[in-house]
Amino acid sequence: MTRTRFAPSPTGFMHIGNLRTALYEYLIAKSQGGKFILRIEDTDQKRLVPEAEKIIFDTLKITGLKHDEGPDVGGNFGPYVQSERKEIYKKYALELIKNNHAYYCFCDKEEFDAGDRFSEKNKCNCKNLSADEIKKNLEAGKNFVIRQNIPDGETSFFDQVYGEITVKNSELDDQVLIKSDGLPTYNFANVIDDHLMEITHVVRGCEYLSSTPKYNLLYKAFGWQIPEYIHLPLILDEHGEKLSKRKGAASFEDLMKIGFLPEAIINYIALLGWSPDNNQEIFSLAELEKKFNVRGLSKSPAIFDLAKLKWMNGEYIKKMDKDKFYNLALDYFKKNIKKSDLDYKFMAEAAQTRVEFIEDAWKLFDFVDELRDYDLDLFLNKKMKVTHEISYDVLNCVLDKLKDIELKNWYGENLKNVLMELAKEKNLKTGQIFWPLLIALSGKKNTPCGATEIAEMIGKDESLKRINFGIEKLK
Ligand code: GLU
Repeated sequence: MTRTRFAPSPTGFMHIGNLRTALYEYLIAKSQGGKFILRIEDTDQKRLVPEAEKIIFDTLKITGLKHDEGPDVGGNFGPYVQSERKEIYKKYALELIKNNHAYYCFCDKEEFDAGDRFSEKNKCNCKNLSADEIKKNLEAGKNFVIRQNIPDGETSFFDQVYGEITVKNSELDDQVLIKSDGLPTYNFANVIDDHLMEITHVVRGCEYLSSTPKYNLLYKAFGWQIPEYIHLPLILDEHGEKLSKRKGAASFEDLMKIGFLPEAIINYIALLGWSPDNNQEIFSLAELEKKFNVRGLSKSPAIFDLAKLKWMNGEYIKKMDKDKFYNLALDYFKKNIKKSDLDYKFMAEAAQTRVEFIEDAWKLFDFVDELRDYDLDLFLNKKMKVTHEISYDVLNCVLDKLKDIELKNWYGENLKNVLMELAKEKNLKTGQIFWPLLIALSGKKNTPCGATEIAEMIGKDESLKRINFGIEKLK
């Protein structure tokens, strides 16, 4: 059975690259009827951020990437947590020492890491210590780390994205497996856990590609089966640089704050490095679970295109349940538009197909409270044959008609009928009436609804005032 794992280190926000890794692991498992496992890799205690674990859980919950297994936590699956598994790693490290695949290193850490291990001067000699010397050092309570003993030769492996990779073992360093605080490094713990958790497909960022031969030597030392590797390319911004918060957004939280919907984020991220067999772009998570395949993964860096994500967000907003959109947009309408006797339902419906962010819906109606001065040329409309002169004449006639309408009859449908009549009377096209009125009432060319609906929205007094203002401008 296919088993994948998401193994984040709780060191801060959920980077977009990390979320993509989680998503692909989830999809690989689900598309093959397998299991998705969550493992918190918290062995680098210096880098831990207290809030980070919660961010990981919340993100997976909001996006629907539910894990299938883990220790029981109040009836739910908890994640596996590496810091709680310290003894397990130690046991395996000692086994490696016994078989000469690892050794105690008593060197001062800095000295060893700074030195070139191949130069005689800096060479660490710990590999050659006798059993007695090791025993003495341990009894004296000397600080130590456990290092991997890299054998001579070459290591090859196959990555499903990057293909066949071969390195000379002499290029690999005797990496630390167990640190002086007794905790394992990521480099060790990931191998032990992936084996014990029976992970079949290891999916992670390509920054781990160069360390993978060392992991394979560990698998070999234990006689364990090496998992399938799927390393993912970098995600870059439009300028080909690393994604950063400073230049826009780098994390799931950043995107949520901007106003993107989780479904749109997941859909967009799925396409950052993976392409389906056809040109389909909109995928629900359930659809991705069926259609995702490793074949569609690419090794060229993915470009994060915020404009594309905005478009996608707009598509998700269009598909959203009407009442849900109304409820979400309502707060923004009420908070930002002072006039209160408004048909918010109508406004929400008009906005739903026109916005990329829910919080922008009210902005389409920013003319309601106040008419901002506008460019006279907005009245010009070639297609509808509207000139400044026609606008001036039309607004005068419209004013004449509308001023006598009783307040109880001041509603869109009736106003529309009155103005249609006017068009007939004056032998004008309806557009020649409605266009100048729309400009006069809203000061805009693009509005979410028509002139008579706006007239109803802002009321009779305000409408007449704005028409007068237009006439004055056109004089
Ligand atoms: N803890 C590692 C990280 O957050 C996980 C890498 C892996 O998936 O093996 O980058």
